[in-house]
Amino acid sequence: DSPLNDDRTLEIRIIPYGDSQRLLIARDVTRVRQLEQMRREFVANVSHELKTPLTVLQGYVEMMQMTSDPDSVLGKQYRAMEDQSLRMKTLIDRLLTLSRIEAATDIDFEHPVAMPALLEKVRKEAEELSDGRHELLFEVDPALWLYGDEMQLHSACANLVQNAIRYSPEGGKVRVKWFLQGARGRFEVHDEGMGIEPEHLPRLTERFYRVDRARSRDTGGSGLGLAIVKHALSHHNSQLLIRSRPGEGSCFAFELPPSLVSVRRNESVTGTS
Ligand code: ADP
Repeated sequence: DSPLNDDRTLEIRIIPYGDSQRLLIARDVTRVRQLEQMRREFVANVSHELKTPLTVLQGYVEMMQMTSDPDSVLGKQYRAMEDQSLRMKTLIDRLLTLSRIEAATDIDFEHPVAMPALLEKVRKEAEELSDGRHELLFEVDPALWLYGDEMQLHSACANLVQNAIRYSPEGGKVRVKWFLQGARGRFEVHDEGMGIEPEHLPRLTERFYRVDRARSRDTGGSGLGLAIVKHALSHHNSQLLIRSRPGEGSCFAFELPPSLVSVRRNESVTGTS
């Protein structure tokens, strides 16, 4: 029983102490959690407030482009303005997605998500992004569904597949697998891209952490993709697993616990995505 009778949050750790004893460490993390919450709300509010003026600016740039010669100096400047405002919009959308996923507490584990249909959607988006420049292979167990949040699961899978494409050279193979491993559902994305040096791996899921800022920017990156993946997975009792060989490629994977897996063999399967 906690002696604190208000809404305080205690973080409790029990660690081995000597041969037969245990040490219990209780830390009051109420203030830390409050500050985290304030930070999340602040980012979500700022992002939301930035959206309206940006949409207005985009409208004007579009109009100016329509009335100018695209090959003139002015036409090229308008195109640059459009590119930059599009980048800003992507960044704001991703910040909002991250805030929404970070703050989510009421995940609906009642209804299973049709992962095969969800991954079909991811495949179509990947084809659009790759535009024929990569070999995309999807091996999906058609009977493997999952209890969880459809939007979050889509964000996790889509971000990993998009990264595999964005950090791979032309002609590179991107292989996506969704299968049953024992009683767990396992998702894997393999690429033959540039790979990642080991010292970067522990920091990859931090917000705005990028191994190569220029490369990330050139491929439309925001530095928020893997942070979104991390939070979406933690809501599903899972975590991101990364294996990478610099210069050869990477494998990003996650496993879902048996309690969230729904195998629907010999049933007529209809997608929900
Ligand atoms: P970004 O929008 O910059 O891609 P992410 O959070 O998705 O942000 O990824 C963080 C960083 O991790 C990237 O900037 C990139 O350096 C590295 N990274 C992610 N996926 C891959 C991959 N498949 N191959 C190589 N590097 C990757």
